[in-house]
Amino acid sequence: MGTLTKYTIKNVHGRRVWDSRGRPTVEVDVTLRYGAMGRAIAPAGESTGSGEAVERRDGGKNFGGYDVQGALAAINTEIHIALKGKDVRDQEEIDRLLRELDGTANKSRLGGNALIATSMAVLHAAAAAEKIPLWQYLGPLLGHSDGSVLPLPEIQILGGGAHAAGRVDIQDFMVIPVGASSFSEALNWTAEVYRAARNLLSDTGRLYGVADEGGFWPAFKSNEEGLDVLICAIEKSGRTPGQDIAISLDIAASVFGSKRRYKLARDNQEMDSDGLCGLLVDWVERYPIVSVEDPLGEDDLDGLIRFTWAVGKRVQVVGDDFFVTNADRLNAAVKMSACNAILVNPNQAGTLSETKAAFDASQKAGYGAIISARSGETEDATIVHLGVGWGVNQLKVGSFSRSERMVKWNEGLRIAESLHETSGGILPLDGNLPPRNAFPWN
Ligand code: PEP
Ligand code: MG
Repeated sequence: MGTLTKYTIKNVHGRRVWDSRGRPTVEVDVTLRYGAMGRAIAPAGESTGSGEAVERRDGGKNFGGYDVQGALAAINTEIHIALKGKDVRDQEEIDRLLRELDGTANKSRLGGNALIATSMAVLHAAAAAEKIPLWQYLGPLLGHSDGSVLPLPEIQILGGGAHAAGRVDIQDFMVIPVGASSFSEALNWTAEVYRAARNLLSDTGRLYGVADEGGFWPAFKSNEEGLDVLICAIEKSGRTPGQDIAISLDIAASVFGSKRRYKLARDNQEMDSDGLCGLLVDWVERYPIVSVEDPLGEDDLDGLIRFTWAVGKRVQVVGDDFFVTNADRLNAAVKMSACNAILVNPNQAGTLSETKAAFDASQKAGYGAIISARSGETEDATIVHLGVGWGVNQLKVGSFSRSERMVKWNEGLRIAESLHETSGGILPLDGNLPPRNAFPWN
């Protein structure tokens, strides 16, 4: 063991906590030699990509098979032993150790949940040892970004797909306040849209409750009704659709299709790849949509290339299940011009170093990037700090209700305030969406 410093890991401890779906998940505390501590919790997806780091769940009868005792045992024995005495500032080295210790391509032995919670807790411990906020440790100090830009929020208003028992097929009907001039203004506008949507739905008998990410669980007769409700809610909130607030969709097409065949149950329609592509292009023509995520299935490369070719100059085409936050996958897609943006999800990659590598690859390729929460979340707000510290300029954390979502928006407000204090100027919101004058409705 080398010299003991305030950065030396003394203990790694995993415990079971509960996520926003009431399922077990993994929390890790990394304690350092002279008392500093970092803590992080693994999130969990529901509409997962097949190439993601695999969560280690116990199976069996307890909690529907979702318990994480195996992952916790791995943290409290193998991972603790491997990391004890290491310097928390060596994030890449620690992440490499974790990968090697796991020894599988998909991180299934120790578990992607054990690994990402540990990797994030290590980073938190490093910032705690410096006694500065995480965004600041990552940004100016490590030279990732100048830490002067808050990400542009992308907020779910209506939830569907795997997050609402398939009530509508499209997973996320979202808004992006493209015309807002600050993070807090973006949230102010969002609050009014969210309220207007609730009133609109309840006044017309279409409100069932909220879906997994806090967006309204709607009773719609068609998928397209979601787009009309968004337009109406934006207008009722006093904003101009497209100009102030634009629409964004996560189709999550792998949930309702594979092998280039898609079944939109709500519309009672089955279609091939060209059919779904045509439907989405039609929506892009008729509604102020600026971003479409996973428009086609993760196995439909041809469809993704075609959709990007058709709309990619004016619309952000985001790969989530398609990229699973993997730099190699992104680099391969760049050569084929498939998608033009990546969803950055730390738990898909399994370690922070791999997450950063995927983000860096996107920036090198001129692709957009959105740092994102999962549908199963907790009070952990690490991704907001990663967004500011790394300079990822869009942020997606679900809707505008439920504390596992609000904790992230509120953390953004706190960071914005302290940045405002330190920079003494107005913070630019810098989402690298296509230029607004490229849209036909302007
Ligand atoms: C998503 O698909 O973008 C998402 C956040 O949902 P999940 O976490 O279920 O993959
Ligand atoms: Mg998605």
